[in-house]
Amino acid sequence: TMASLRDRIVFVTGASSGIGKATATAFAAEGAKMLLCARRADRLVDLAKELTAAHGVAVHTFSLDVQDRAAVDTTLAGLPQEWKAVDVLVNNAGLSRGLDKVYLDDPKNWDEMIDTNIRGLLAVTKAIVPGMIERGRGHVINLGSTAGHVTYANGTVYCATKAAERVLSQGLKLDLMGTPVRVTSVDPGMVETEFSEVRFRGDKDKAKKVYENITPLEPEDVADAIVWAASRPPRVNIHEILMTTIDQA
Ligand code: NDP
Repeated sequence: TMASLRDRIVFVTGASSGIGKATATAFAAEGAKMLLCARRADRLVDLAKELTAAHGVAVHTFSLDVQDRAAVDTTLAGLPQEWKAVDVLVNNAGLSRGLDKVYLDDPKNWDEMIDTNIRGLLAVTKAIVPGMIERGRGHVINLGSTAGHVTYANGTVYCATKAAERVLSQGLKLDLMGTPVRVTSVDPGMVETEFSEVRFRGDKDKAKKVYENITPLEPEDVADAIVWAASRPPRVNIHEILMTTIDQA
C-alpha cells in the first residue's frame, strides 16, 4: 500500500543538485507541492519550471543558507501562509570538504561541515517540527550516510557529522514519541552527484576517481527510498534505510 502524497507540502533543503533535486522530482511526480531551498536559488527557478510543466504541481523556491541560523528562522517564519503547513521535511543540504588528516586539515572545513550537516539540520528541524506537532501530521527525513556507520580515512569530520545525524535522528524520534510525527534517516553509500566535486573544491579529475571501478548509486535511487518511506501508512515509522551500490562493502 502507498499513502497518497498528492497535495502534501514537501520541503527539501539543498534541492539545487544531486539527491535533493532528484527527491524534489520524485515527490513532484507523486503530486506533492514542493518547497525548495538552496543557496543557488537560480537553479531552483529552472527546476520549479520543469516540475510544474511535467507534473502540474505548485513549487515555491527560495534562497537559504542553512548555516545561518538567524536566516533560517526569519525565512521559514516568513514563508507565505499557503506554504507553512509542511508535511514532509527532507533535511538533505549537506557537504563534505577537505581531503586530509584531521590534524592537518583547515579548521574552516570542519566548521563548514559541522555548520551545514549538524547545526543547519537542527535549525531547520526546530523551525518546522513544532508546526507539524500542532497540525498532527509530519515526517522528518534526514540524509545520513554510510559514513555515519563506517569511518573512512581523510573523512574524519564528515564521518563525525553523519554519525551525529544518526544520533540526532534517533533522539528526535524519541522526543516525538506520543505525537504522530515520524522520523527517518536515509543513509546512502556512494552516489554520483556534485558531492565529490564540492569535496575537492572543483577538482573534477579527483572527483571522477572516487567513482572509478564502481557503479555508484544514482540520486534517483536515493529519492525512491525517501518517497517510499514518506508514503508508508501513518502508523509506520521507518527508522533507517541503509543502502549502497552493489560494489560497495
Ligand atoms: P550535491 O553537492 O550534489 O548537493 C548538495 C546540495 O546541498 C546542493 O543542492 C547544495 O545547494 C545544498 N547545500 C549545501 N550547503 C548548503 C547550505 N549551507 N545551505 C543550503 N543548501 C546547501 O551532493 P549530494 O546530493 O550528494 O548530497 C546531498 C546529501 O546527501 C548531503 O547531506 C550528503 O552528505 C548526503 N550524502 C551524499 C552521498 C554521496 O555519495 N553523494 C552519500 C551519502 C550521503 P547550494 O550549493 O546551491 O546551496
